[in-house]
Amino acid sequence: MPRFAGLCTRNFTASVASLACTLLVTLSVPAAAQAVLKAEKSAADPSFSWLKVATSILSPLKQQPGQIPPMITWEGFGYEPLGADDVKTLLARGVTPHLHMDAAMIPAALALQNAGAPVVLMQGAGGNFPSELAGKPELWAHQFDASYKPTEAVRPCPSLLAGWVAGAEQVRDTLKKFKAAGVNVNSVWMDWEGDPLYGKDRFDQATHCLRCRSILPASLLASKPQFEAWCRRRFVELIGTYLAAPVLEVFPACSVTNWNAMVSTPEHPLNDWDFEKIDPSMPSFFTAVNTAAYGDTKYWHRWQKSYKLDQEHVDQFWFHSMIEQLSTETANRLKWMPEKSAIPWVARWLPENDEYNLPVMSRERYRELLRHMWLRGIKGMQVFNPRFKDYEKMAVYELQDAATIYSEMAPYHDLIETGTPICLDVPPAQSNKLVWSGLKTDSKAVVRAFKQGGGKAMASIGIWPGVKVQFPVDANGVTALVEKSANGVHVTLTRSESAR
Ligand SMILES: [Zn+2]
Repeated sequence: MPRFAGLCTRNFTASVASLACTLLVTLSVPAAAQAVLKAEKSAADPSFSWLKVATSILSPLKQQPGQIPPMITWEGFGYEPLGADDVKTLLARGVTPHLHMDAAMIPAALALQNAGAPVVLMQGAGGNFPSELAGKPELWAHQFDASYKPTEAVRPCPSLLAGWVAGAEQVRDTLKKFKAAGVNVNSVWMDWEGDPLYGKDRFDQATHCLRCRSILPASLLASKPQFEAWCRRRFVELIGTYLAAPVLEVFPACSVTNWNAMVSTPEHPLNDWDFEKIDPSMPSFFTAVNTAAYGDTKYWHRWQKSYKLDQEHVDQFWFHSMIEQLSTETANRLKWMPEKSAIPWVARWLPENDEYNLPVMSRERYRELLRHMWLRGIKGMQVFNPRFKDYEKMAVYELQDAATIYSEMAPYHDLIETGTPICLDVPPAQSNKLVWSGLKTDSKAVVRAFKQGGGKAMASIGIWPGVKVQFPVDANGVTALVEKSANGVHVTLTRSESAR
């Protein structure tokens, strides 16, 4: 990504000025029909290693990322202690291993810490966890009427807390062991997705449970929507109380988040993966929220037959789908919980329900999306890179794309750390209009714009009262760094080399 500082900068002496600069690279990106991209098949490499991928494919950062934490990945670099050289090699490329919340990993944590890496704990949990930690099933599982047979696995009674208490004790005990060994845990970014949130028949199970009927209000068991909304609200409170709070008891400065820790409001409710509205949610104990930007094949059912099925319009669809939750959540959070940071998960492609043959976002547009995410108020990123059978390369691309854009955005780390988002507009699912994002402080700003649908447009973006920057864009986005000085306003433009 070449910089055009010498060609396209100009001091702003007027309060409102336009930037007229000629971009020397001419690129044509036709919006005409193209073959629609599908997931790329590839044979599995028997000697596959993420460390090998990172060292062979990722380039070292050109500039330091300041306080932006290195990215963790879902599939990582193992859980054994790594050598300092390997850790430093990863950090130099913007990534770092994660560990589990397991005292057996203390040696690996010390190896990371001693090599200068943050200690990040992340792991998934689901099913009946943590209710099952209460012990024998009769202590936590539903007690059904004799005639009732559930269609899915037996769920926990959602009103009982013994398992959650046991889970919190495990968190405390484990983290105290890390602390006693001299480890400072920087981040706990967990993926507890279980009880009482899931189970398609969870309402039926609760209504047929003698214990639930004796504890829960009858009105709650009379309405499936009311019960499921209650389960979601309760989940947010439970993970805050029994996961976030115990972490902060031991490490008060730790960054803590978990799946579904997000700010949803009645005015701007978030959607879950099935596009049901998420009830108002204020995850007060968490220090960070955990949105997701996934090219999840579940979303494809929102594709309309009236849309033009070519790559440009597929890219527009995915851009909209993937930036929507993050933007809406940020707007909510800036208003109601502005002290919290955001550490979203990202993935260009996530085949759910064995959907491997649906249109996929182009890598170029995905990289554009990642740039805009960085300019919409996030403080870090987690890369969802599972290797699906026969699609190993797709996972490699996840890491490569995210690390490339992390490197590209590193020079703007001060604005990412302290700037305020200045555009959270969500482009419609199909739109040929210009899309832009940006961050600003009182004296500095960075904005990024590109045009969907082919052709050119003039970005005209107000930064501060009386100060507007203008620059031409096409499908190749342009990043504008805007700096105030005693002489006026100075703008540096950087643009992409190619859009596809
Ligand atoms: Zn029950």
